[in-house]
Amino acid sequence: MPPRTDNVSRYLRQTKELFGDELYLTIQPQSSSPSLDVDFNSNLSAFEQEICTCQKCPLGQSRNKFVFGVGDPKASLLLVGEAPGATEDEIGEPFVGRAGKLLDKILAAIDRNRQKDVFICNVMKCRPPNNRDPLRTEVDECEPYLLHQIHLIKPKLIVALGRVAGQTLLNVDKSLKSLRNTFHDYHGTPLMVTYHPAALLRNQDLKRPTWEDFKTIKDFLEQNK
Ligand code: SF4
Repeated sequence: MPPRTDNVSRYLRQTKELFGDELYLTIQPQSSSPSLDVDFNSNLSAFEQEICTCQKCPLGQSRNKFVFGVGDPKASLLLVGEAPGATEDEIGEPFVGRAGKLLDKILAAIDRNRQKDVFICNVMKCRPPNNRDPLRTEVDECEPYLLHQIHLIKPKLIVALGRVAGQTLLNVDKSLKSLRNTFHDYHGTPLMVTYHPAALLRNQDLKRPTWEDFKTIKDFLEQNK
């Protein structure tokens, strides 16, 4: 696994490719975690237009549709999955199908929905063939896009949905169980890891711990308005 500084360097290189030299950095050396404050003359939909034809990794060749993400561009809650699945690749929207419907119900239980204070996306914007896990090299190319989405949205909390999303964002090889129940740090934004809604469809026993996680998420967001 490459060090985190590689991701930041790649983010800066890619954003320079996208936006030229209009790039301002504030580096806070006192912080224990990497802090990135980059100002671009850009908004979320303009950013989507900038990157929707991306061919930086081989998944650009095999995808059907690019899946940028949906939701409130100023959401306090950012949900991040691993990568689009088959239906998402067909439609161009993350978390559709049965798992998506379950996610919608979970969001309704904390008084949110896809348009209300939530943004939903994936680490990878294109589907890996046969739903395989994304390769580290592919993640390294795509993760800077997520970093820029976070920069534009400025969520109060990021929630990684599923083991692979959690492992990928935190750059660790730990079980989902060990990643739960902790506020991690993702480039200066608190990050929690919980179960992927598809896992709940396969195993009903995961519904209770997932609901506990979303109660924690709701409390956190109410305390950090
Ligand atoms: S997965 Fe990401 S880096 Fe690869 S082609 Fe798609 S948008 Fe580009």
